Amino acid sequence: MRLAIDSKLCTGHGRCYTTTPELYSHDDEGYGIALVDHVPPEKLEAAETTVRGCPERAITLSREDG
Ligand code: SF4
Repeated sequence: MRLAIDSKLCTGHGRCYTTTPELYSHDDEGYGIALVDHVPPEKLEAAETTVRGCPERAITLSREDG
């Protein structure tokens, strides 16, 4: 699954990188950055939790085959 943050929606709450630093970091202004493009299967559940937890709905997980 492909992981992405929409920078136009992210307001820098920090919930993603605070709870799941193995998948996210932040830029100098505190906006979230996805550390991986492709989520390995063992991290999928954690990634899905961050999608649900983002207050701005800025994180997306999408299938890579279509
Ligand atoms: S939780 Fe959402 S709004 Fe907050 S930093 Fe992460 S992507 Fe941005």
